[in-house]
Amino acid sequence: MEIIIGKTSGFCAGVKNAVANAEKEIQKTNQKIHCLGELVHNKQVIQKLEKEGLETIENIEQAIGKTIIRAHGVSKQIYEKAKKRKIQLIDLTCPKVLKIHKIAEEYKKKNYFIILVGVENHPESIGTISFCGENSFMIRDKDDIEQAYQKLKQTNLKNVLIIAQTTYNMKKFDEIVELIKKITGEQYNIEVKNTICTATKLRQEETEKISKEVDCMIIVGGKNSSNTKKLYDIAKLNCPKVELVETINDVDLKKIDKNDKIGIMAGASTPNESVEQIKNAIMKQETGGKNETEYSISRA
Ligand code: SF4
Repeated sequence: MEIIIGKTSGFCAGVKNAVANAEKEIQKTNQKIHCLGELVHNKQVIQKLEKEGLETIENIEQAIGKTIIRAHGVSKQIYEKAKKRKIQLIDLTCPKVLKIHKIAEEYKKKNYFIILVGVENHPESIGTISFCGENSFMIRDKDDIEQAYQKLKQTNLKNVLIIAQTTYNMKKFDEIVELIKKITGEQYNIEVKNTICTATKLRQEETEKISKEVDCMIIVGGKNSSNTKKLYDIAKLNCPKVELVETINDVDLKKIDKNDKIGIMAGASTPNESVEQIKNAIMKQETGGKNETEYSISRA
């Protein structure tokens, strides 16, 4: 049996920073620290932090004292409300997301119509679109392009900026950009800033590569994690057997044949321990607990 673990698996820099700083803040105080929305889309990580003193709240009105803004970022209105209520924010928004907010504000000022390619109910997109102003539209997939075009025509603006949610699928983004250019034609000046995060890009590329080489692919991550679902979709296109699991408890070891070449890849909110537990359980079932050196394990 061969197990290939993606080297881009696990926490991305933004999530690592958010979790480490949340832990630091919790340790500094005896009081509960609020976090607006789940700090990361991973049940196990959240449960651990909640035991240490973090409390997840759903809206800023519930905030008392120190309140964490997670890596996804929040809307402009949240910052305004927090300021009014004198809530002390610990802003752990990923710098890459903050950069997109800045780009949006800059182009809004320059009177551009902004198209955000992203998932409309994802917290990061909800935050980003609030910085784009009224002359903007969010596109989830190519079916929404016509609606965006209709709104653009109503504004009489001729300059258009296209940006993306950091975890959007790269190939789909390129397709959407090409379609927008085709529909709008030469009368519009289209500027594109591919704001998909490099960590996401590399993870998606690596998932594609590994899933083409293996018999079974295990994608590890929260069921509510958008970037994990995209990894699952990519693997599905290339591999006949793909499992999406949150923890070792979800892995159906019976489905894994001892001759299988197995690939493991984890989403950006998944701690490395989850990947290790899965790898160890697969090896243990095959060896009955013998030494792992009998198996070939490579980090792709
Ligand atoms: S995926 Fe990229 S943009 Fe999003 S939190 Fe991680 S490092 Fe930041």
